[in-house]
Amino acid sequence: MSNTVIKVAARELDLMKKFYMPSLSEKVPPGGVFAAKLPGCTITAYKSGKVMFQGKSHESEAARWGSPVHKQAPQSKTSGSPLPPSISAMSVMGSDEVGTGDYFGPMTVVAAFVEKEQIPLLKELGVKDSKNLNDVQIVEIAKNLLTFLPYSLLVLPNEKYNRLQASGMTQGKMKAILHNQALNNLLGKISPLIPEAILIDQFAEADIYFRHLKDQKKVCRSNVFFSTKAESVHLAVAAASILARYAFIKEFEKLSKEAGFTLPKGAGRQVDEAAARLIRKHGKQSLMHFTKVHFANTGKAEKLAEKR
Ligand code: MN
Repeated sequence: MSNTVIKVAARELDLMKKFYMPSLSEKVPPGGVFAAKLPGCTITAYKSGKVMFQGKSHESEAARWGSPVHKQAPQSKTSGSPLPPSISAMSVMGSDEVGTGDYFGPMTVVAAFVEKEQIPLLKELGVKDSKNLNDVQIVEIAKNLLTFLPYSLLVLPNEKYNRLQASGMTQGKMKAILHNQALNNLLGKISPLIPEAILIDQFAEADIYFRHLKDQKKVCRSNVFFSTKAESVHLAVAAASILARYAFIKEFEKLSKEAGFTLPKGAGRQVDEAAARLIRKHGKQSLMHFTKVHFANTGKAEKLAEKR
């Protein structure tokens, strides 16, 4: 789990203890002065003056008191076989998906193959973790990548997503099936070339991933590695992620056109309101086409739609 450690003077430690008085825990670890538990953060203060913040809001909570002693870079975690030590410099096929948390728009999955000689070019084109890129940058980089990079793109339309979901399939299983399919497609495309490694941006532990695939005819298994934050392990995953987001943006634009207004991303309140507008305009049934209907947004949108 990510955490922040700060160091404070003894006087400050007292102040902090007072501040967290309502949330103090009874259990204090050896060498500890106090421990406190907030909804999004656990705080442990030590006699040495070191205070550790753990949990979702570790950064913001620690920031009240001082700056981190050493900021830990987010670490990627591997499941299944350990990553080859030099994987970043290898010829790698990477895969990633987009759209799983968005109420509107389809899930998109891309596998992309990056040969080691192409790594400098990808860097030059600005390929990096797509979370740090805005839509305009994504489109620009993706258009470049599409001209030369071997890839396989799969789009899961919401009609099909909703059908699978209603039949009891989890989103995790859908992802596993699509990743596997994209990887198999791409292996076929680049043949006789073979990647030195296949890296999946981890959304499930390796054994769960393969369990999801137990009924699939062809399972891409050899040389497959899993890592969280895999975009920062190899640019093939970063490129796959950019292409998946590009496809998602395109699909989203199409859907917005059909809807007659701009659909919002994510699954927040604006999304409820937009879905209510869709219901009024195109009927409840249209949600099967535009949305992932099992999200809680559906119920909220139906209520909003009835209001007027
Ligand atoms: Mn991912």
